[in-house]
Amino acid sequence: MTVDLLVFGAHPDDVEIGAGGILAAHSVLGYSCGIVDLTAGEMASNGTVEERQLEAAEAAKILKCALRRCLHLPDAHLFVNSESLYEVIAALRSLRPRIVLAPFFRDDRHPDHSTCGELVRRAAYLSGLKRLPVDGEPFRPQKLYFYLLSTEQPPDIIVDVSAVHKQKEEAIRAHRTQFFHHSRDKAQTLVNDPFFLHYIRSRDSYFGSLIGVQWGEGLLVNERPAVSDLIKWSGE
Ligand SMILES: [Zn+2]
Repeated sequence: MTVDLLVFGAHPDDVEIGAGGILAAHSVLGYSCGIVDLTAGEMASNGTVEERQLEAAEAAKILKCALRRCLHLPDAHLFVNSESLYEVIAALRSLRPRIVLAPFFRDDRHPDHSTCGELVRRAAYLSGLKRLPVDGEPFRPQKLYFYLLSTEQPPDIIVDVSAVHKQKEEAIRAHRTQFFHHSRDKAQTLVNDPFFLHYIRSRDSYFGSLIGVQWGEGLLVNERPAVSDLIKWSGE
């Protein structure tokens, strides 16, 4: 099975927060979309790995993704090394996505997020080397973009996700061991503070306002666009 759009995250809820709207919007457009989580999120303060896997599967269904895989790399111990790179490259070579998204590769509060971005950035290039000892035919995605988690980079592109923001919120809510309600039997974290939804909404609404729509998700582009016809390129 191959996909048009593949979104990588370090933990089973990253993709929903940073690019859940983009996934849902592109599923609606008829593209096949997939998610790869590098870790099972076993270091989270709340929720077991089994609970989190069920929640992640439910969220992927809400976003109408064709697949969701977990690479089971070690949570809180993500490093740029050959073992992790080869796992990411194997996923790229088997799923052969046209477009890949990953968390921005610098300055995130959670080091796993930046490391995930750096791993995917390197893997997207190295995956094209035919002598690399990884299963599958050499492959490079057409484009790699970076989404935003706990970092405040200004985005280069904003995707209009107004029509699907409801699904994005629903997919985040599906991670019920993680988000939005403090309770006595749960460790209190930033993300299970009920106010956390407002953080997500405020950023998405701000990005939306920058392009004149209700909700937007921002992406960073790490290469210059190659343009030969400014009129066509500006056509949308
Ligand atoms: Zn995370």
